[in-house]
Amino acid sequence: MSRAYAIYKPEARGDEPNGEVIFATTETDALEQYCISWFGGSGEEFTEGVVVQRVPAMDKYLAAQNTIPKSEYLKIRWQVECDGCGFTDDDHELLGDKVFCQDCYDFERLPTQDKEQ
Ligand SMILES: [Zn+2]
Repeated sequence: MSRAYAIYKPEARGDEPNGEVIFATTETDALEQYCISWFGGSGEEFTEGVVVQRVPAMDKYLAAQNTIPKSEYLKIRWQVECDGCGFTDDDHELLGDKVFCQDCYDFERLPTQDKEQ
């Protein structure tokens, strides 16, 4: 039975991957999937400084074809992209299952007629 693992590098820089949630049976398997998907191979050179963390709350999304709502990522304090402008920030507002930065959130909350100007 696969379970959810959050894999990330706290000190990722440049074009290094920030992180990913991977469904795997063991921590080792999760790490290997992570390495293969990002680097095309596995080995200690890719896993240095990488953190693997079980996220039991996300286990149920395996059945939902791995579509994890952004709200779940916020719960584990990951940064997510704004659904309006794509900007990644620490401050987010949730509207339904969408995530918005403060500017987009204010815009989304405007009455419809005000948006069409
Ligand atoms: Zn935005």
